[in-house]
Amino acid sequence: MTDYDKVIAIDGPGGSGKSTIAKTLAFKMGFLYVDTGAMYRALGYFLDLNKIPFISDDHLKKYLQSIVFRYGVSEDVLVEVSGMNLTEKIREHHVSELASKVSKLPFVREFLFDTQRNLVKDQICVMEGRDIATVIFPGAFCKVFLTASAKVRAKRRYDQLISIGKDAVPLNQILEDIKKRDERDSGRDVAPLKQAQDAILLDTSDLDLNHVIDQMEKIVIQRSRETGFDL
Ligand code: C5P
Repeated sequence: MTDYDKVIAIDGPGGSGKSTIAKTLAFKMGFLYVDTGAMYRALGYFLDLNKIPFISDDHLKKYLQSIVFRYGVSEDVLVEVSGMNLTEKIREHHVSELASKVSKLPFVREFLFDTQRNLVKDQICVMEGRDIATVIFPGAFCKVFLTASAKVRAKRRYDQLISIGKDAVPLNQILEDIKKRDERDSGRDVAPLKQAQDAILLDTSDLDLNHVIDQMEKIVIQRSRETGFDL
C-alpha cells in the first residue's frame, strides 16, 4: 500500500494527443478513462446556449447549483447536462473556445472538482486535462505532461474534425485559435496549464501514436515500481 492516488494524470495543451493517447492507454491496460476537457466543453456549451454570462458572480453560482451534470452515463452518453446529451455537440470547433472561456471561472472549476475527484474509486484511472497533476490529483502516482508544436497540434485538430465529419475549418484558423487558447489556458489565474514539478515531459511532435503508447506504458510501469503502487 502507498499513499499515492490511483491516477495516471495526463496534462497538456489542446491537440497534444492527450485524448487519443489517454484513451488508448486506458483501454490497453484495463484502466478507467476520464476526459475532463469534455466536462468544460459541456458546461461552456450549455451556459452559452442558455445565455448565462461567463462572469464569476452569484447568478452563475446559483445556476450551476440548479443543473444536473452527469459524466460517463453510458457508452453513448459521455456527458449530459440537465437531461441533454451533449456527447457530439461538444466536439464542434467553436465549443473549444467556449470551454476555454468558461474554464477561467473559479466557480466552474470548483463545481467540476468534486465530479472529477469522485470518479476515482477502486479502479485505476487515466485522467486527462490541464490541471490534473497540479490541482485535482497532486498525489497521482504517475504524471505525464504531453506537448507538441503548435503547428503539429493544429494539423491534428484539423484531421480530427474532418474524420468526425464536422464542418471544415481552415488550418490557419485552427492554428490561430490554438495559439489563443494556449495563451488563455496558461495565463489564467486559477489552475493554469503548466507542467507539474514531478511530471514527465513527453513531446509528441515527431512521434507516431504507437510509439507514444509504448513510451507511456513504460513510464506507468516504471512509476509503479518507483512508488510501490500496485497495477
Ligand atoms: O482538452 P480539451 O481541448 O477538450 O479542453 C477544452 C478546454 O477546456 C481547454 O482549452 C481548457 O480551457 C479547458 N480545460 C481546463 N481544465 C481541464 C480540461 C480542460 O481548463 N482539466
